[in-house]
Amino acid sequence: MRATTATIHLPALTHNLQRVRQLAPRSKVMAVVKADGYGHGLERVAGALADADAFGVATLVDGERLRRAGMSHRIVLFPGFDEAGDLPLVRELGIDCVLHHESQLRLLERAPAGPPIALWIKLDTGMNRLGFAPAEARRIHERVHALACVSEIRWMTHFSSADENDREQTEGQMARFAAAIEGLPGERSLCNSAALQAFPASHGDWVRPGGMLYGLSTFRRKSGRDLGLEPAMTLTTRLISVRECAAGERIGYGGSFTCPRAMRVGIAAIGYGDGYPRHAPSGTPVKVAGQAGSVVGRVSMDLLAIDLSAAPAADVGSEVLLWGPELPVEQVAEAAGTIGYELVCGVTRRVQFAEAGHEVLSAAA
Ligand SMILES: *Cc1c(COP(=O)(O)O)cnc(C)c1O
Repeated sequence: MRATTATIHLPALTHNLQRVRQLAPRSKVMAVVKADGYGHGLERVAGALADADAFGVATLVDGERLRRAGMSHRIVLFPGFDEAGDLPLVRELGIDCVLHHESQLRLLERAPAGPPIALWIKLDTGMNRLGFAPAEARRIHERVHALACVSEIRWMTHFSSADENDREQTEGQMARFAAAIEGLPGERSLCNSAALQAFPASHGDWVRPGGMLYGLSTFRRKSGRDLGLEPAMTLTTRLISVRECAAGERIGYGGSFTCPRAMRVGIAAIGYGDGYPRHAPSGTPVKVAGQAGSVVGRVSMDLLAIDLSAAPAADVGSEVLLWGPELPVEQVAEAAGTIGYELVCGVTRRVQFAEAGHEVLSAAA
């Protein structure tokens, strides 16, 4: 059997949720589990985060999966419904919907009688993605308030730059949000992981952490551990071949790496078909048998070549660590020109998943 495995650390998820509670003690927590729990597996993540007050999802199907897994939490569908045909299932499952566009409001105004829906009206305070203009907030509220099919109204907005310590943008968004709904009833929600950690004044009634629950960092040159978080995924495989290459030999597709000296090269059973980034250049760090290694040559679909110069103990069968607590996914992401979020979300179905629920976590923070 192929050894390529993503091991999910359930205690890390629980630890990270506790960290959220410490940082935002007065807010309720909506755990964001979109994209299959950021690639960690929706049901297992929701089970480990069952202490959260709500879950945030990006598709109705994910909401349905959570209900089927027995989750009775509030579930919030971030893009809301987009056709009348979604409404019966939304109502049957009791899923909260974000309302961000006039087209959705018209669908609601024409909706048949039925169980009422809880809404989160989204204002666009500077992201220019989803949401009503702040100046429209009162008018939208009046229309929504008049609908018999709406049971509860809450408010949300989303930050564009909280991860870049852009105080001006984030504080401007906070001010526009507060001004737009001043005096209107309903709970407020603004924060993603970055704002939750960097802008305590934005916590509001509900925080919406995603990345930090998985131990991911949203801040440049910081790993999750630097922020007191525990990485929740370890991606490993094994060496299936080791070869001696002479100085001047070229490695892999396109021969993009030329051996500067004689060196041992290990071939690991992982590639971009598993979600390891093809853009990871020569020099991207890996660990082999606990020692430092680095990618050499181009990442193939199924295979990865690794410089074993610093890992003399490595041989066929040795474990290869691609990322995890001992090798921050942020380091791999930085080398590959992306963020840790994309790497963990991108692990493919070919990779087997395992759960490590009982090991003692080396405590950071
Ligand atoms: C994805 C998402 C979040 C979580 O963002 P993180 O950076 O992962 O914490 C919060 N709110 C909304 C609306 C989102 O789409």
